[in-house]
Amino acid sequence: MTDQTHDHSALLQLRNVSRHFGSFRALDEVSLTVRAGARHAIIGPNGAGKSTLFGLISGTLPVTAGSILLDGQDVTRLPVHRRVGLGVAATFQHSSLFLRESVLENVLLALLRRPGGGLGGGLGGLRRVAARPQAIAQAHALLDQVGLPTRHELAAAELSHGERRQLEVAVALATDPRLLLLDEPAAGMSPAETARLTALLAALPGEVTVLLVEHDLDMVFELADTVTVMHLGRHLMTGAPDEVRACAAVQSAYLGTTEVPS
Ligand code: ADP
Ligand code: MG
Repeated sequence: MTDQTHDHSALLQLRNVSRHFGSFRALDEVSLTVRAGARHAIIGPNGAGKSTLFGLISGTLPVTAGSILLDGQDVTRLPVHRRVGLGVAATFQHSSLFLRESVLENVLLALLRRPGGGLGGGLGGLRRVAARPQAIAQAHALLDQVGLPTRHELAAAELSHGERRQLEVAVALATDPRLLLLDEPAAGMSPAETARLTALLAALPGEVTVLLVEHDLDMVFELADTVTVMHLGRHLMTGAPDEVRACAAVQSAYLGTTEVPS
């Protein structure tokens, strides 16, 4: 079903989205538009509701109220795999890699989930896709793209923290996303790892819209063309990076932390 009032430059629209846990309002009537092709960051103190918002967008968490539109189509009640099929891919704050499988196999498993992959899941599916030279070439290309060209034979568990996050991006890209959700990808990374990740995200093609939650504000202000500030489950403001930096309400939301945008 297509919405008559849909803004055609919008890839993602949230309309008065709420999520309650019992009587607690983790998200309270949040409305937000993410333009196609945007590099859109969401910032806000811990507990602002950023990860909850990603859960609602990816479909791992049902909304309490409100609606979510992807390209004008109401996806509010679609299960995760249907949203993946429509091009929504997420990396989560807590990793979801198969640690005992190899780096290459992690990407191959993600290629299986691709719309029209049609190979079925599980290890049987993995064997079928692994037998296809084209899939293997594709997996290697993705590992090149995220800066892991020589790590494919290692078990995912053997990667450094930063390399795991790079692999998570490759896994997300393997589903051929139009919307890539990244929840604190630089958390726990060294400055060198963060710089590598920033460069990799900056080099993503414009067809991939990026929605990024990140505490590292240097990374946010380097990558983002649009910044949304959340605080205590509410949308505080959305604007260009300079507008957000200059906003007094934003400064006060961050007061008492070391993360005041400067
Ligand atoms: P952020 O990612 O911005 O740090 P979260 O979205 O993780 O914030 O959490 C927002 C608020 O919702 C927090 O106060 C958190 O404790 C609460 N919350 C998140 N998930 C649950 C849950 N499953 N049950 C109860 N409260 C939750
Ligand atoms: Mg979070």
